[in-house]
Amino acid sequence: MGLEEKLPSGVLLTSVEKAAGWARARSVWPATFGLACCAIELFQTGGPKHDLARFGMERASNTPRQADLMIVAGRLSQKMAPVLRQIYDQMADPKWVISMGVCASSGGMFNNYAIVQGVDHVVPVDIYLPGCPPRPEMLMDSILKLHDKIINMKLGKNRERQIAELEEARLNLRPLHLISPEGPEL
Ligand code: SF4
Repeated sequence: MGLEEKLPSGVLLTSVEKAAGWARARSVWPATFGLACCAIELFQTGGPKHDLARFGMERASNTPRQADLMIVAGRLSQKMAPVLRQIYDQMADPKWVISMGVCASSGGMFNNYAIVQGVDHVVPVDIYLPGCPPRPEMLMDSILKLHDKIINMKLGKNRERQIAELEEARLNLRPLHLISPEGPEL
């Protein structure tokens, strides 16, 4: 917004943060990023039965520069990972990520070299949504939880520091090592 950088921290900034958070939470524009079967549930969430328009989110953007929410729906292949990151980098700030389904969150049942074992190795994730696939109601619940996060979000430099810390922590994660009952690592 620009204003937040000029204001001193304190009561006024807290009020500005709350007002900006309220406005942002009600104008989130998702980028379309369906990667696998979870995307079908994502499409369904935008349909008339579930009606994402209630949250001001009916406009799914096909250009990342007009989107601030990435919903990663489905497994992410190693080959697709740089594309996902590029789209995330091109999205407008501030931006958020929902990891939809077990495949996006952890690789799911695809524990192999071709699939990224969690999109948080590539982009900072705000909400992890479990399920295979998650139902549209679950996605809407995660969107409402994201709204709470956005309303209570820091602004300006505080937000940049928050994102940098989250991203560093996620990038430092190591893949799980499976231990066989006999002892040695698989
Ligand atoms: S979590 Fe299930 S539904 Fe979603 S992409 Fe993976 S296999 Fe498909």
